[in-house]
Amino acid sequence: MKKIILSLAAALCCIAGANAAPAADTLKSSIDTIGNKTAIDTLATADKYRKVVLFNDNTWAYIDIDRPAISDDDFADNWDIESIHICKDIPVSSLPAEIDLALVDSTHGYCAPITGRISSGFKFRKTRNHNGTDIPLTVGDTIRAAFDGKVRVVRTVGNAGGYGNLMVIRHPNGLETYYAHLSGFIAKEEELVKAGEPIALGGNTGRSTGPHLHFEVRYMGKPFDSERIFDFSTGELRDSIFTLKRHYFNIYSHYGMTDAESAATQERVYHTVRSGDTLGAIARKYNTTVARICKLNGISQNKILRLGQKLAVR
Ligand SMILES: [Zn+2]
Repeated sequence: MKKIILSLAAALCCIAGANAAPAADTLKSSIDTIGNKTAIDTLATADKYRKVVLFNDNTWAYIDIDRPAISDDDFADNWDIESIHICKDIPVSSLPAEIDLALVDSTHGYCAPITGRISSGFKFRKTRNHNGTDIPLTVGDTIRAAFDGKVRVVRTVGNAGGYGNLMVIRHPNGLETYYAHLSGFIAKEEELVKAGEPIALGGNTGRSTGPHLHFEVRYMGKPFDSERIFDFSTGELRDSIFTLKRHYFNIYSHYGMTDAESAATQERVYHTVRSGDTLGAIARKYNTTVARICKLNGISQNKILRLGQKLAVR
């Protein structure tokens, strides 16, 4: 048999679509139309992006299908498979004031990991930071890679704190996406994945009170509001180039704020509620008013304070 090597990657690459992988019938018809040959069968190889295609004239070919335009070299900086979070010794204050990150281009697509309503967003919640976006799902729902990338972390329940089963994917622009409370994994550690590729199954593991995806986006290990990247109700990307600003890393900075409001979160002074604290006492301590504290935190004057809760006071 004669062997030919072809690449369908460019022809089949689905850019900036909510479904980055081609549909099976698109794939088949693309292979069918190579030259004058008719494909009669395909065989998988050890490389998931490469198939052996058998033709009716007794020839065969390796065909690369939908291979992401990335290589291991794209992920050399701060590559660490031992830690969930990278760059713990680098403070937010030493990051650039702003940096432009290309999210999609002619060879890199995107895909919201799952779409749906948001049950909880990026904020200080009760007594701890909630660093991600929660989207309810049914256990077993397919979770897809947000962008082309390389799986950096796969951790099972008990080894990832409240995350439960956790996957972290590094992307070529330096962003990392976190997928938590999973019920199962599809992609493996250090595997290259393409935007839209199924990587895991949604679940209810770890610190979770119902099946949902907890999705985080981090840069240099620092989280910011993932709603700045995706509209999860439609699955659309907000913009092809994302300007990441240092004040976005503040837990009180979220999508929908004006730039000035977000920047102001960096200047705020916070009080951690201790035993015996009342809104009146806190207001007196910081030389402000109860009304002002309530407005800053979006709470009513009758709000019952929790120990450990953080309140913006100025
Ligand atoms: Zn969450």
